[in-house]
Amino acid sequence: MRVTMIGTGYVGLVSGACFADFGHEVVCVDKDASKIETLNEGGIPIYEPGLDLLVERNVREGRLSFTLDLEEAVRTADAVFIAVGTPSRRGDGYADLSYVHAAAKEVAEVMDGYTVVVNKSTVPVGTGDDVERIIAETRPDAEFAVVSNPEFLREGAAIEDFKRPDRVVVGTDDERARAVMRELYRPLYLNETPILFTARRTSELIKYAANAFLAMKITFINEIADLCEKVGANVQEVARGVGLDNRIGGKFLHAGPGYGGSCFPKDTLALTRTAQDAGTPLRLIETTVQVNDSRKKAMADKVIEACGGDVSGKQVAVLGVTFKPNTDDMRDAPSLEIIPALQAAGAKIRAFDPAGTVEAEKLLDNVDFVSGPYICADGADVLVIITEWNEFRALDLKRLKETMKAPILVDLRNIYNPDEAKAAGLTYTSVGRP
Ligand code: NAD
Repeated sequence: MRVTMIGTGYVGLVSGACFADFGHEVVCVDKDASKIETLNEGGIPIYEPGLDLLVERNVREGRLSFTLDLEEAVRTADAVFIAVGTPSRRGDGYADLSYVHAAAKEVAEVMDGYTVVVNKSTVPVGTGDDVERIIAETRPDAEFAVVSNPEFLREGAAIEDFKRPDRVVVGTDDERARAVMRELYRPLYLNETPILFTARRTSELIKYAANAFLAMKITFINEIADLCEKVGANVQEVARGVGLDNRIGGKFLHAGPGYGGSCFPKDTLALTRTAQDAGTPLRLIETTVQVNDSRKKAMADKVIEACGGDVSGKQVAVLGVTFKPNTDDMRDAPSLEIIPALQAAGAKIRAFDPAGTVEAEKLLDNVDFVSGPYICADGADVLVIITEWNEFRALDLKRLKETMKAPILVDLRNIYNPDEAKAAGLTYTSVGRP
């Protein structure tokens, strides 16, 4: 099948490369000329493990290409995916649908013959109806169907998630479109991936409900962690004891500095707006958003407290600034709140991140980015782990103690064992553990 991706970001590029790997002929389109140029020169504009090899192979075998020319790419496509950003609209938390609407119009202007337009962007209920209306108004003669096919991949494990998803959700009541979608995802039938066909609005809501539930689960264990600290319990053991219950499950029960990233913050907020407008407020999700927002500041306070109540003039070393490991994505990363709060309290910040420095430097002022964890810790008054990159999991704690000015380790991801840290001579603070 001939597939066109509109938007070659984290989702469009991974989905495009994976569809090509399934054997389809894929053209990825973007408006960002530097992105397309990088890709056409053999580079990858984002950090995602394994993506370089996947892209290289599929380009070499002639199934994957990149272009700025939307018209050429859309005209011949069987399916056109819209995978553009849907960020929070500044000020009110609604999803900003301007990129989706613009893409729909651009596609409508040039499509030729029956085309399935697939919304892969995360969009509020009813956006498929908007896209359908825009296309019909722009091209009253067009033969098309609009399908919702939300994406559930996680950055950092995106290829595996796309190729071995827990499920694929397809929202449409158009039989012809359903056949096209079935054909596109046919390789997944082999490994018996559940493909859930629903109405379009239901599909749109499934994506938001899934993200809201996961955000709520993280926030739940974070609040339990706070309680653990007050009553002398261990949140990791509580999470294990709770998560072994099959009705609950152990995933997304890791206490930490609060969720961030390109999806949960904006999607939880957008869902609360949809629900308020529908007259059925989602109080659990509204509270989740509030609790998570206040948590970032609380994490800065935790660092300050670990330093005896004052970080003024102190050198704070930060390990990990991306919102999670194995990505360079800095969108809504907890570090973007924790670091400025520490700076406001007078701290000087030095940081190391294995892949996020370039993006982080655009968003954080007055941070001295260095090239490794031990250089980062050198002479520091406190070392703070914000993101749990694998390479931070087995640091030589004795070496850290020797290199630091004061041996204080604040581990916001609970990757170290408190006894081990203590044995190395460090004063250790973590989340929800004695
Ligand atoms: P992104 O910002 O990385 O990429 C979006 C791309 O679309 C950009 O490169 C932009 O230049 C391009 N673009 C915008 N308008 C265009 C147009 N008219 N024509 C061509 N290109 C255009 O965004 P992303 O992280 O890939 O997210 C895309 C969507 O997928 C969002 O709705 C997001 O919520 C959803 N999603 C993201 C993830 C994730 O982990 N990032 C996971 C699941 C779903």
